[in-house]
Amino acid sequence: MGSAVALFLKRQGGAGVDVTVVEPDPGLARASSALSAGSIRQQFSNAINVRMSQFGHEVIANAQAWLGVDDEPVDLGFVPSGYLFLATGSTGVLEANHAVQRDLGVPVRLLARDELASRFPWLRVEDVQLASLGEGGEGWFDGYAFARALARKARSIGARWHRARVTGLEREGDRLRAASLDDGTRLEADAIVNAAGPWARSVAALAGVALPVHARRRTVFAFSCPTTLPLTPLVIDPSGCWFRSEGHQFIGAWTPGEHDDDPDDLPLDEPDIALFEERLWPALAHRVPAFEALRLTRAWAGYYEVHPLDHNAIIGPHPELANLLFVNGFSGHGLQHAPAAGRGIAEWLLEGGWRSLDLSPFAYARLAEGHAFAELAVI
Ligand SMILES: Cc1cc2nc3c(=O)[nH]c(=O)nc-3n(C[C@H](O)[C@H](O)[C@H](O)COP(=O)(O)OP(=O)(O)OC[C@H]3O[C@@H](n4cnc5c(N)ncnc54)[C@H](O)[C@@H]3O)c2cc1C
Repeated sequence: MGSAVALFLKRQGGAGVDVTVVEPDPGLARASSALSAGSIRQQFSNAINVRMSQFGHEVIANAQAWLGVDDEPVDLGFVPSGYLFLATGSTGVLEANHAVQRDLGVPVRLLARDELASRFPWLRVEDVQLASLGEGGEGWFDGYAFARALARKARSIGARWHRARVTGLEREGDRLRAASLDDGTRLEADAIVNAAGPWARSVAALAGVALPVHARRRTVFAFSCPTTLPLTPLVIDPSGCWFRSEGHQFIGAWTPGEHDDDPDDLPLDEPDIALFEERLWPALAHRVPAFEALRLTRAWAGYYEVHPLDHNAIIGPHPELANLLFVNGFSGHGLQHAPAAGRGIAEWLLEGGWRSLDLSPFAYARLAEGHAFAELAVI
């Protein structure tokens, strides 16, 4: 997010704008952007999320044009493929989402059980009532490479990086004046953008601002299967599991339900291996009988930056501290939305309002008013 904001600020503001990205971990060892599943979908329930993904896809699928520096190749390893959402109970949400997506020209198709079975013969479909398959604008890519490419491009057009941690934010009346860093630097700024991902709540607290964004650990499992399957779409199963092809193997994970324990800040160096045996594997084997014989090869964990109110991002200025901007709480779909969010913040700062896309539904003000802007296609 920080790199995307910097990139669009420099693209639009040129030499007239000074941008410094403060980052204590330039290798992104713990950053969600590097630990994500690196996938992009158009299948959201909210039109604005679809539009943000459309721009994300434009940038990711045309990375050379957007992110190339000096003709060096940009390889994000983008694999165009679809998400396949399955409904086993009520089909209402899938149908309502489909209507939103079709209105925006998203190539998405509803599949009845027979069609699903003939298209994906390796899938168990007896309990599936309806499925929704993306047929364009979706796929997966290397999240780490994407984050690095955004940073590299931003740097090439003049954004600066400062290796340090923000440890203080100086407030003066209804504005922020400066950030203090753990290397003793004091950085004065006209505006400060909180792009601290799962750590955004603690950065906001430095300005005395409450930001309900929680670092929730998600473990991703890589596994192989002795039966050769074709490239699978990214299957979203109502049980709570998802999986997709990853080269010759697969990756998958479990999304906790509303009644599951989902504490904050669990250690990243302890992926939840028990979850695989207890929940993920049975669900995978139910949906794909060949996965009975799968073999777990690797697991890693990263933090979702969860905004529990509505699982949607918080983007834009604080209502009282107008030069503090948020680009936080994407709740597991932020990588694909980074270009649209970065462009939006740049427009807000340089032109004084939303331009390319109206991002006002993500306003911080909705928290105070208790207005949820719910995203229903949550993974
Ligand atoms: C397992 C997993 C799977 C995911 N799958 C997908 C997916 O398929 N598609 C998708 O679009 N999204 C996915 N996401 C979500 C996506 O990764 C995030 O929404 C996105 O990467 C958030 O980007 P960010 O820049 O806000 O956060 P990060 O990438 O975490 O970056 C935040 C940065 O802030 C820095 N920071 C922290 N504290 C401070 C401080 N005090 N001062 C200065 N800097 C600080 C950190 O060092 C870090 O580098 C997934 C996430 C996870 C964990």
